[in-house]
Amino acid sequence: MNFKLLYQNKTMQLKIYNSLTGEKEIFKPILDGNVGMYVCGPTVYSNVHLGNVRTFLSFDFIYRSLTHLGYKVRYVRNITDAGHLTDDGDVNNDRFVKQTRLEKLEPMEIVQKYTVDFHKVLDMFNLLPPNIEPTATGHIVEQIELTQKLIEKGFAYESNGSVYFDVLEYNKRGLNYGELSKRNIEELFANTRDLDGQGEKKNPQDFALWKKASPAHIMRWNSPWGEGFPGWHLECTAMSTKYLGETFDIHGGGMDLKFPHHECEIAQGKACNGASPVNYWMHANMLTMNSQRMSKSTGNYILPMQLVSGENDFFEKAFHPTIVRFCFLQAHYRSVLDISNDAMIASEKGFTRLMEAVKILNSISSNDQKESNFNVEDWKSKAYDALTDDFNSPILIAHLFEAAKFIFALNDGKETISSKDLEDLKSTLNAFIFDVLGLQAIEENNNEKLDQTLQVLIELRNQARKSKNFELSDQIRDKLLAEGIELKDGRDGTTYVLN
Ligand code: AMP
Ligand code: ZN
Repeated sequence: MNFKLLYQNKTMQLKIYNSLTGEKEIFKPILDGNVGMYVCGPTVYSNVHLGNVRTFLSFDFIYRSLTHLGYKVRYVRNITDAGHLTDDGDVNNDRFVKQTRLEKLEPMEIVQKYTVDFHKVLDMFNLLPPNIEPTATGHIVEQIELTQKLIEKGFAYESNGSVYFDVLEYNKRGLNYGELSKRNIEELFANTRDLDGQGEKKNPQDFALWKKASPAHIMRWNSPWGEGFPGWHLECTAMSTKYLGETFDIHGGGMDLKFPHHECEIAQGKACNGASPVNYWMHANMLTMNSQRMSKSTGNYILPMQLVSGENDFFEKAFHPTIVRFCFLQAHYRSVLDISNDAMIASEKGFTRLMEAVKILNSISSNDQKESNFNVEDWKSKAYDALTDDFNSPILIAHLFEAAKFIFALNDGKETISSKDLEDLKSTLNAFIFDVLGLQAIEENNNEKLDQTLQVLIELRNQARKSKNFELSDQIRDKLLAEGIELKDGRDGTTYVLN
């Protein structure tokens, strides 16, 4: 039986923008009803910044949407915990080595510290964990095997204890290095200086599959080519194909990973297995601040906790993580999003309105009106069209606001709805808000409420005393005391102590 995306009697078609073809395509999974999805994970040598969070959140929304639409998804997101090569291949510039020196920690202590931080941050924004979260260091054997296979097939060569992928050989065999990033190989050769590899490579565009470890390099493994460590691009090929197969459905990551990382993954996959490793390449766009890409290296970044705690110089107040999530989802994953104080304030307003509407809707228990003057069926159809049109979250949210408008009017007695439509609207709206968008209701701050209530009681007691109604004022004081709240009259007025 063919898997069909259905709600009620309507068949839906999911369209996904494929970065490889540059077109929105109808999604056809390899295995009916199942999706294999791989997303490049973080390099855990420092805290993730808010920009990194945006990319992971975009794919969390995609994962949630696929699941909601009925697909059984195997979602794999790796942890890059082995040396991440730098442009010049100098050990002193290896991000892990640098950080171990700076923090005076073992490499695996660095890995553990920032992996824990990464999970905490994603949990705070209500991201679901992937089904498999493999680490690069846990897949060294697979990476060595892949390197051997590439050498055997003539796509890679050893040079001074390192192994490089031979890009020119790849192209000679009719394959096309540059197909994803739309780069021309001649141009690439002309414009690249040989920084990495320092004379070891046949061509400057060749990339490392295995790198010889210098004596200063702490993270090192034995290999047929001596002690060394794997190349960054290879780890994703090793882990994605191990858990999802030689060709799988979706590969995601931030836009900046298209070249060289994903270009190299395609080359490695095709050279090894003779087939393109991925059917749909998806790239999430960047988060900017002050109209510049958020990035640690330029200093233009904010850490998630700084935004949530309010401890920063850029935003006028603290924002709840779910407001940040809502703000991110108000932009399509393929659009650039500029985070600003105004954008966050607007998102907070919108979120509050939406949540008020759901609360009202969920409190309407029964309804004896027969007629609906809100076409739930039509509304659902439009909302699903947005979701299945390359996961268009801003349009989906616009439809949710349309429903919210109706709910407020319903609450004011200006609109009516049938029982059947009411139930349908309730379940669909709740599913979109909580399951698909992954938003969370913000718990009211009980301490604030208690303080406000006590201030009211203190004011009433003062009024009673002014009008010499001491019986009432004493009653207020004694009853509060019985509840463990002691009122203290001082020169500056009355305060309270919670016992
Ligand atoms: P990294 O740990 O540097 O490999 O980055 C983790 C993920 O964050 C990658 O998918 C990057 O593409 C993504 N990323 C980095 N900077 C930004 C940004 N400013 N906005 C959105 N995603 C980003
Ligand atoms: Zn990757």
